[in-house]
Amino acid sequence: MENIYPECQKCSTGVLVPLSDYGRDGATIQYKAWVCTNPDCGFNIRIDNGEISIGRNIGKSAK
Ligand SMILES: [Zn+2]
Repeated sequence: MENIYPECQKCSTGVLVPLSDYGRDGATIQYKAWVCTNPDCGFNIRIDNGEISIGRNIGKSAK
């Protein structure tokens, strides 16, 4: 299988790569978040409890 990641819709330069997390029982939660590979973009999407949230300030302080 090939891993072809979707192009970032924001910057069209990076691609969105999936991040996995681990649940309370150690079960893998695949594709919990998607993050743009372009550091100047920083676009990211998280999936929490079935809801999608889009953040734009990953890696930066919001303050
Ligand atoms: Zn991007």
